Amino acid sequence: MQTHILGYPRIGSHRELKKACEQYWSGKISLDELHQTGAELRKNNWLIQQEAGIDLIPSNDFSFYDQVLDMSLTLKAIPARYAPLLGKSDNSIPDLYFAMARGYQRDGLDLTAMEMTKWFDTNYHYIVPEFTKDQKFELFSTKAVDEFLEAKDAGILTKPVLLGPVSYLLLGKEKETGFHRLDLIDRLLPVYFKLLEKLQENGAVWVQLDEPFLTLDLSHREKEVYHRVYHELREAFPALKFLLATYFEGLGGNLDLAISLPVCALHIDLVRAPGQLNQILKKAPENLSISLGLVDGRNIWKNDYEATLKEINRAIKTLGSARVLLAPSCSLLHVPCDLDLEPETNALTPEIKNWLAFAKQKLDEITTLKNLVESKDEEAVSGMRKLQANIDSIKSRRESKRIHKTQVKQRTAAISIQDALRNEAFSIRRTKQHKALKLPLFPTTTIGSFPQTKEVRSWRAQFKKDNLTAADYENLLLEETEHCIRWQEEIDLDVLVHGEFERNDMVEYFGEQLDGFAFTRLGWVQSYGSRCVKPPIIYGDVERPNPMTVKWSTYAQGLTSRIVKGMLTGPVTILQWSFVRNDQPRSETCNQIALAIRDEVLDLEKAGIRIIQIDEPALREGLPLRKAEWDAYLKWAVNAFCLSAAGVREETQIHTHMCYSEFNDIIEHIAAMDADVITIECSRSQMELLDAFAEFNYPNEIGPGVYDIHAPRVPAKEEMLALMEKARQVIPDKQLWVNPDCGLKTRGWEETRKALKAMVEAAKTLREKS
Ligand code: GLN
Ligand code: ZN
Repeated sequence: MQTHILGYPRIGSHRELKKACEQYWSGKISLDELHQTGAELRKNNWLIQQEAGIDLIPSNDFSFYDQVLDMSLTLKAIPARYAPLLGKSDNSIPDLYFAMARGYQRDGLDLTAMEMTKWFDTNYHYIVPEFTKDQKFELFSTKAVDEFLEAKDAGILTKPVLLGPVSYLLLGKEKETGFHRLDLIDRLLPVYFKLLEKLQENGAVWVQLDEPFLTLDLSHREKEVYHRVYHELREAFPALKFLLATYFEGLGGNLDLAISLPVCALHIDLVRAPGQLNQILKKAPENLSISLGLVDGRNIWKNDYEATLKEINRAIKTLGSARVLLAPSCSLLHVPCDLDLEPETNALTPEIKNWLAFAKQKLDEITTLKNLVESKDEEAVSGMRKLQANIDSIKSRRESKRIHKTQVKQRTAAISIQDALRNEAFSIRRTKQHKALKLPLFPTTTIGSFPQTKEVRSWRAQFKKDNLTAADYENLLLEETEHCIRWQEEIDLDVLVHGEFERNDMVEYFGEQLDGFAFTRLGWVQSYGSRCVKPPIIYGDVERPNPMTVKWSTYAQGLTSRIVKGMLTGPVTILQWSFVRNDQPRSETCNQIALAIRDEVLDLEKAGIRIIQIDEPALREGLPLRKAEWDAYLKWAVNAFCLSAAGVREETQIHTHMCYSEFNDIIEHIAAMDADVITIECSRSQMELLDAFAEFNYPNEIGPGVYDIHAPRVPAKEEMLALMEKARQVIPDKQLWVNPDCGLKTRGWEETRKALKAMVEAAKTLREKS
């Protein structure tokens, strides 16, 4: 049995890649220095794997920005607007490359970046390839070959990783009409052939082709293309060993197709879809090896050796050990680098740490499992010791009192249908709310956060370093909140917010105050390019020991006679942006969080807060990869939101907020959330997102964002008016609110002031007109 991995985190355990890229972008280091950092990171990763004893070590899993963008550059799928940067100077490749990723404003050029979107159901974002009808491909960058040779020089014969040709096309977008991107396959394949030829010439034996689309619903045409492409590849390269990698889901209806493709090995995700092993073992043709993805590449929990060994042995019994490979379920890109670097803190106790494994630890899990299966004499003793330690740690997690809390489990078990329903229908609540809140037509509000200035962030940093006392820190925040309230009064906003200055992050802030969450110091994961996130770890039953936001909201409300909106993050978003438990269904964890938020909502209401917003920007992100499973997910996700919201009186107005979302295919579920008001990101789509609401006859109130908060640009009043006029064409006036697209925390005060003033003016003009 051979061990391998599909990919290793490239950011470095101290985010070296992020730092180097950002320094290069701001001109602080040279291109040579950037390349130097890249080379060091790659070498380091290879050596870590070699030391751990991994048999097939990948190369070309490194990237300065994104592996899909790398592939576009390799294939010269470079949109025409970047032509001025082609061959411009020595720096052309990195400048061109980063221009495609981030846009380019220099030397009189103003080139927009390529679009970025989520990588399947992960929080990683890739750069979407752009295709034209007469798209040509050509071998442009030899990164895959160069990195293979680089490893070879270091004495390691790697398995180059390439995004497979079918998935590459499917990940892209047609930029004109009149063709389908799959039509390009015959122009694309010759370039893949050239690349593979070069790899083979240079000594590559194995090549990993990632085809994650094999785990999605495929059309007849797509299946046909898969069949044809892989037969052509086999014919052209009879000697290369292709490992076809699938992940994030089971093969489902594509199973027969996948095992019929003439490759040497097929990798399957047995963490997401353990059930598919039976079918695979029954059906795998004799010349196909199976790579068992049994160590979770998407989560940070220690592997359960006893359970995994059973699966490995089952596979070996049917296939023979020569036809079995062992691997993580997917690339380790999605987990942090190294648990050993984590200090033991109150936020990550030794007990919790003992339940976890990050990328480096997962390598060790893979090789330990192999040794245990092969029970080689010299490793037998240490292997048995490791197995026992693993059994103990799995048991300690299963039985820990820190995890399992009877009162929490009893409470979720007792949830009734009623708990997720408001007492009255929206039409009745609406009348009561209007009477109680006395808001004008087209009420104005914001999404919650106001600028997190350098000062605000420096207070927090100083407070964390103990350079600022808790009382001083708090006073500064209270002052900032007061300024914010005064300013909102001054410009005459209708529904105010306290500004969220006390929050580091909309999930972390709540996680830190809830039981059942742990936090790392260095647990960074790449989100896109140089942006990394540090998701909290939900390890145990979730409970809210104390109110979390009541103090801030009541303080702000106490300052003004206008209504201040309470601001919470919703249960689905908290779940979605954390590493979650694998010992109970996600829906159960979500319900626990929902009840904690529900308690907070009720405490806010009791304290006199009359409008409460529960943000759910990540609701759509949680959608399963296969459509057949959407309904089940949306039911529990929407129900969790409702559970958090529905305990209030009719007069209390519940808002929700969702950004970067499309609504047409999930509109009935959005309606089932039954929020009194939903604010959405809308300005960049020119209000088109409202059509879904209009067609559905969505009855509740809506605040379509009237300006884009992602850039410092200040929109004119007329521009916002025009957008609202578009909104009025499809949604009745009495349902409409006026607000920005999203929170303002990344903006500066100057542009915020101008933009919001103009927004309030726009709303006033609207009122006069109607
Ligand atoms: N209330 C949050 C804020 O304004 C919402 C952020 C978001 O939607 N991502 O920052
Ligand atoms: Zn938002």
